[in-house]
Amino acid sequence: MARRKNKELMELAMDMGGEEAVEVIKALEKKGEATDEELAEVTEIRVNTVRKVLYMLYDQGLAEFKRIRDKETGWYYYYWHLDIKRLPEILRSKKMAELKKLKEMLEEETGEIYYWCGTPGHPKLTFDEAMEYEFQCPICGEMIMQYDNTQIVEELKRRIEELEIELGLKKKPGKRK
Ligand SMILES: [Zn+2]
Repeated sequence: MARRKNKELMELAMDMGGEEAVEVIKALEKKGEATDEELAEVTEIRVNTVRKVLYMLYDQGLAEFKRIRDKETGWYYYYWHLDIKRLPEILRSKKMAELKKLKEMLEEETGEIYYWCGTPGHPKLTFDEAMEYEFQCPICGEMIMQYDNTQIVEELKRRIEELEIELGLKKKPGKRK
């Protein structure tokens, strides 16, 4: 697997199922094809967790399995392998969703002036709301003031542009002379 693709897959795995998903995928990639039990053994992760990761991958279209019947015992074994053809498509739709969220955040930050006590996690109030609370934070009671969101707005704009370039929705800005 190409290094870049691999990195993207591992990041996606981390998002979907944390460390354990990353370990399972690494083991599966190394073995090429393996049963859930085999993967549980090499990763030392509980087989139930391994199965959860495998089904999650299957749901996303990133893994496939073959069902093979053992002639002697009559039991069925599932042999799993990775199939990352859909990876670019999945990553793209994830990025599109992120872009949408960022744009909404930007709209919120630029559309209205907010009043805030300055403590992260405490609410940012509109002018009308701030009036209602007599310009005091409803949580800590500190005075709330108009806050300067230039930095937040700049950061949001930067991330939006980055994503738009990554997604091919926007061209990279040319070098300025
Ligand atoms: Zn507060």
